[in-house]
Amino acid sequence: MAWELHSYIVNPDDQRIYLKHVFYGHSKDDCQQVKTEHLASCEYYRAAEAEGRTDDKWEAINDEDLPAVEGDDDDDGVIDVG
Ligand SMILES: [Zn+2]
Repeated sequence: MAWELHSYIVNPDDQRIYLKHVFYGHSKDDCQQVKTEHLASCEYYRAAEAEGRTDDKWEAINDEDLPAVEGDDDDDGVIDVG
């Protein structure tokens, strides 16, 4: 069992959701760890959390449904995720 933590950010101007982060992990703790690390570098998200404008939803997924890096097959210098 793996998890996705969907963290929606609400726009304070019109109260609509306009952005979502998704954190993946093999456990909820893994997801929380990724979230914590991202919060440290994402000023925008940190402000939204501090202002209570985020809404977190958990989704259980199969391990094989975690996004996997498939390597750079097409020589464009970008690692493909699928
Ligand atoms: Zn961010």
